Amino acid sequence: MESASEQQGVCDLFVIGGGINGCGIARDAAGRGLSVTLAEMDDLAQATSSASTKLFHGGLRYLEYFEFRLVREALIERETLLRAMPHISWPMRFVLPWHEDMRFEAGTPTSRVLETVMPWMRGRRPAWLIRLGLFLYDRLGGREILPGTKRLDLETAPEGAPLKPRFKRAYEYSDCWIEDSRLVALNARHAAEMGAEILTRTKVVSARREGDFWAITLEGGADGRQVTRHARALVNAGGPWVGRVIRDVAGIESDEGVRLVRGSHVVTRKLYEHDKCYFFQGRDGRIIFAIPYETDFTLIGTTDADHDDMSQPPECTPEEQEYLCAFASEYFVRPVTREDIVWTYSGVRPLYDDAATSATAATRDYVLSLDEAGAPLLNVFGGKITTYRRLAESAMARLAPHFPSLTGAWTAGAPLPGGDFPVDGVEAQIAGLRADFPFLTERWARRLVRAYGTEAREMLGGAEAAGDLGRDFGATLTEREVRWLMAREFARTAEDVVWRRSKLGLRMTPKQVAELQRWMSAVRAGSATAAAE
Ligand SMILES: Cc1cc2nc3c(=O)[nH]c(=O)nc-3n(C[C@H](O)[C@H](O)[C@H](O)COP(=O)(O)OP(=O)(O)OC[C@H]3O[C@@H](n4cnc5c(N)ncnc54)[C@H](O)[C@@H]3O)c2cc1C
Repeated sequence: MESASEQQGVCDLFVIGGGINGCGIARDAAGRGLSVTLAEMDDLAQATSSASTKLFHGGLRYLEYFEFRLVREALIERETLLRAMPHISWPMRFVLPWHEDMRFEAGTPTSRVLETVMPWMRGRRPAWLIRLGLFLYDRLGGREILPGTKRLDLETAPEGAPLKPRFKRAYEYSDCWIEDSRLVALNARHAAEMGAEILTRTKVVSARREGDFWAITLEGGADGRQVTRHARALVNAGGPWVGRVIRDVAGIESDEGVRLVRGSHVVTRKLYEHDKCYFFQGRDGRIIFAIPYETDFTLIGTTDADHDDMSQPPECTPEEQEYLCAFASEYFVRPVTREDIVWTYSGVRPLYDDAATSATAATRDYVLSLDEAGAPLLNVFGGKITTYRRLAESAMARLAPHFPSLTGAWTAGAPLPGGDFPVDGVEAQIAGLRADFPFLTERWARRLVRAYGTEAREMLGGAEAAGDLGRDFGATLTEREVRWLMAREFARTAEDVVWRRSKLGLRMTPKQVAELQRWMSAVRAGSATAAAE
């Protein structure tokens, strides 16, 4: 097939959606020599991909749903991803206290099996079952870096101190943390470095087959006008909007869809001192995590509630806040109250609609469906942050027959920008950065290494003092960093910077954020005078 670049205005692949799946596919495709354009109607990771629990995990509880394929793939993937991005991802230990009141969610395949063979258990989640689950979790997925499961005596271990004394034992296992929205931005950036065109604040309003191509109408961009682009293949990675894109944008009749399940989190003041997470099981069979967050906070989540109408932005309702506080208070000695909450966020899981009975039980696995009634359309349903790279590889495999010159899979082992250092090398990176830039405090240097990895140096340029970095917007955010985010990571507004490229929104005052917005607008409008004020 003739390369798209030879035919003006036509790209090989057009991707709708700048969440993790769209950006992961754009990166993979660009690295295989395809010309790629991606359009995101808002900011990168504006929707679900910035609202996750932020774990690269196998999903321990999905074992109860017999989701062995998904769990195995995700477990193997954790370490592949960790190696490629040791700045934005790191290992975490999870403490799972056990108590005999623990229940299954009614209706999981495991609870049904147990009810049949051991009716006297009446929905209990026994300790041996958790041990079995953790045994599988340790062994299903080729662990090399992450330590395995161990038992904890909560009466003596420091992890028991913040918990009520009725919790006497626990299991401790491994998973990984991931800065979800930075993952998306870095995938987009890497795609762009390989030639992909990344359009943010650009909505795809219509896509129609024209001969061997897709004609795609876009709205937004700098001047808000409609423009039409052509592509040989179209990927619909619209997340919660995937069904709408099929029906309303592409005008295709289809009963494939997603079940929209809202999940909310609360961020509280720091609830305990150590650096491990808790995995709490409730009497209702659900589970929540309590996770050390951004040094001074604790992240608690999540809920599960059907959320049918995407015109209503998901929000953590007062009831969800109460629920999460009450759930955590079952475990912590000091009750968690709504007064402890400093921030909340909420996202909608786009789960492939497999007619499962409850929100919790709907499959977390992804499904790719290829419509080849003319130029190809690949629809992406579901998927987890953890499986985005594998999902992108599968997407390429499905599209390969349409692109005979496509090169092979390449992303396993390829670092994301700034991630080219060893998995255990963060402390050395921080020490090296501070040696080269002595004006950085330890906290500041840590934040920059966690965000930019080996690129922190380039971002700081030849600065010899903090003053060389230009304006100080507060919380160590400087003009130099904001300009970097605008030039390299597609940041357009203060919200993009303080909530998705970083979490400095937790530390900056509304006045500081407003000032940042004013400055960014001025820079974008090209008003050097206003920007310099
Ligand atoms: C509460 C919660 C917790 C989770 N926790 C985890 C976790 O810990 N680990 C994990 O692995 N996974 C987790 N997940 C799952 C994971 O977050 C999602 O599966 C993933 O983010 C989905 O990414 P996506 O790219 O498919 O969708 P999205 O991130 O929603 O991206 C879709 C994008 O498409 C854009 N779009 C839609 N229509 C158009 C259009 N017409 N034109 C242009 N753009 C359009 C949207 O604006 C949106 O940005 C969690 C999900 C939730 C909700």
